[in-house]
This record gives sequence, C-alpha cells and structure tokens, in this order.
Amino acid sequence: MAARKVFVAGNWKMNKLVAEAVTLAEDLKPLVANVTNVDIAVCPTYTALYAVGKALAGSNIQLGGQDAYVKESGAYTGEISPRMLLDVGCSWTIIGHSERRHILGESDAFLNEKVRFALASDINVMFCIGELLEERKGGTMKDVLERQVVKGLEGLTAADLDRVVVAYEPVWAIGTGETATPDQAEEAHVFVRGLIEKIFGADAAAALRIQYGGSVKPDNAAELIARENIDGFLVGGAALKADSFADIVNACA
Ligand code: PEP
Repeated sequence: MAARKVFVAGNWKMNKLVAEAVTLAEDLKPLVANVTNVDIAVCPTYTALYAVGKALAGSNIQLGGQDAYVKESGAYTGEISPRMLLDVGCSWTIIGHSERRHILGESDAFLNEKVRFALASDINVMFCIGELLEERKGGTMKDVLERQVVKGLEGLTAADLDRVVVAYEPVWAIGTGETATPDQAEEAHVFVRGLIEKIFGADAAAALRIQYGGSVKPDNAAELIARENIDGFLVGGAALKADSFADIVNACA
C-alpha cells in the first residue's frame, strides 16, 4: 500500500430519491465510523446533496458533487456552480467522468476550464481520465491518457495539485463488471504518475493520489489497493449499497 492517504469515493450518479439517499448515508455512517486512515466521500445527485450533507454532518464522510460548471451564477439553465456545491457542504466535485466525456460530449478543453474554475472556487477536484476499449485494443491507451492529463490539467501549478485527485477509470471497466487487473491498473497509474512528474515535478507526482475506478467491488478491492500506485477508488455501482461500499472502505483501512 502506498504512503499517500487512501481516498475512497462513491459516485451515486443519477440514482436515489432524497429519502433513499439519506437512508444510504445514514446506513453507511456507522459502518465506516472507526476508519481514520482512509478519506471517504460520497457524491449524491444534486437534489439529494443538501439532505445527505445534513445527514453526514459531524461524520468522517465528506460530500462531493458529480460535476460543476464554469460560472459562479447566471443564465446557464440546468448547470450548477462550484459555489452552490460548497454552499450545501461539498468539499469535492468530480470533473470529467467518462459519462460526461462520452455521453454528454465534454471536450478536454472544456474539462480543463471546469477544473480551473472549480479550483479557483476553492472546491477540490476528482479529475477522471480513462481509455475506451477500442483505444486500449488499438494500442493508443497511453496517448489517450497523456492527452487527457496534459490538456485537462493545463495551466495548473504543482501547488494546485494538492487539491486534485486523478481517477483512472478505463471506460471498458465502468459499470460492466469487468475490472482492470491489478497489473493493468498499476501500469496505467505508473504511467499517469510519470506524466505528472514530467509536468509538475517529482514532489507533486509522489504526493498525487490516483484512484482506480471500474467495477470495484468488496472482493477485488484488497488486491487492487495493495499495489504501490493505487491510492484509492472511485466507486459507482458498489457505492449504492452501504454494506458493499463500507466493505471496500474497510478493505483499504
Ligand atoms: C464510475 O462510474 O466512476 C464507476 C467506477 O462505476 P462502476 O464502479 O459501477 O464501474
């Protein structure tokens, strides 16, 4: 296990009505209450953020949004600003999830704007990257990761990286039940850390937490977290049940 503090976050995506989300948060709290050596966060859908934030107050579980727009307020129908996320108790937001890249069509340049605006607004960022199956099979995985890292983090300083976590999420492993092997994940994480070193220097690279995401479950979490460069998880499906998410957290503790 790496020296960096492990960070496990749950991405609840577009799931759970408010009452269901609060129940999930309430159920989760006691299951991870004794964990002090892992940072824990959940990212509910917007409508549930305020209520979940209240339910988690005083607990060791942080709150995150799933996205954030590039303006503080104004005529941007349907969008949410970092300031609004902070207002309901979020300390994190996800930016660049593959569903936003590939379903909503968000570009590297736009995601870079989002990362910069989020950091300027004082919210921490989980920045997601990851290759498609055809990119992996076609041998361009590293080119894709490099493009996403270079363009997505353009204009940031090494100091900014203190407030950024990178989530490596191979798109072919998200929601498919197919997990990257520990070797595949470690190889990608080593590559990403090397890119960070080239751009931001050795200290920033050594300190950066790189989460893995893609069908993480209680039964594969331990072997993944055992690898040197895997510093936590961004969990989708298994985060929707308190016991499976807690089991993943506890596998890292
Ligand atoms: C995700 O969407 O970030 C994710 C990793 O999903 P899942 O765990 O369901 O593959």
